[in-house]
Amino acid sequence: MTVASVPRPIARPRVRRPVATHRCTARNRRGEPCQAWPIHGATVCVAHGGRAPQVRAAAAKRVTEAQALAALQRASDRHQRDRQAWHARRVALVARLMGIPATEVTWAAIAVCVATHGQPDEPEPKITDARYRS
Ligand SMILES: [Zn+2]
Repeated sequence: MTVASVPRPIARPRVRRPVATHRCTARNRRGEPCQAWPIHGATVCVAHGGRAPQVRAAAAKRVTEAQALAALQRASDRHQRDRQAWHARRVALVARLMGIPATEVTWAAIAVCVATHGQPDEPEPKITDARYRS
């Protein structure tokens, strides 16, 4: 049997659920680590304080903050990519309008091009643009 003929396992859809990477930080009566999974967003399991309202509230707050931070990071990454692509298009446009190779486009060349031909129609992507809100 060749490697190519080995049946591949059916790919399961990826579940986007944050998973705790550490076990409960509490210790049992024998002084050993608890080993149970902590509640989401906290470091303790339900038997070691995870059921307490203040622990649940703090955990929920941490989860919300982590989600907001992740969303901000995704928007920032997307903006960065869009801005780099926009800049590449601008350099290509300046090179064409000024009749110079793209490798010779400098900030000064861009400034001269803007003074000569006006601002390009495509505005620079801003992080405050509606498309980066989620
Ligand atoms: Zn525990």
